Amino acid sequence: MVFDADGEEVVLDATEARDLLALTGGLEDATVSACLHCRSRILAVVALADLLDAAPAFARSVELVELADDAPTLHVYVRDVSARCAHRAWRDPGAEEWSDVVAQLAGPPIVR
Ligand SMILES: [Zn+2]
Repeated sequence: MVFDADGEEVVLDATEARDLLALTGGLEDATVSACLHCRSRILAVVALADLLDAAPAFARSVELVELADDAPTLHVYVRDVSARCAHRAWRDPGAEEWSDVVAQLAGPPIVR
């Protein structure tokens, strides 16, 4: 699924996710930071909108463009829900940002 820091999300099924990656060159040009072992990543919204503009339209492209346009920050996030991955090999500052957003969206922390 693809989501922004407000929790707006576009959930793609396996076929849609494959189409998205195939039509956008694996989202490489929009990727700010990514896990080495799965498809979870951070995308720059401007680059994502450009990629979607340049790619042939597919089932969910309008929703993804809207998500990118309405994102409250410069980044949107991809969570690879098909992979069981602890993202242990993802070791740049993006990994922390990604987990922070995922944790926030999962609900308020109880006690830290
Ligand atoms: Zn991962």
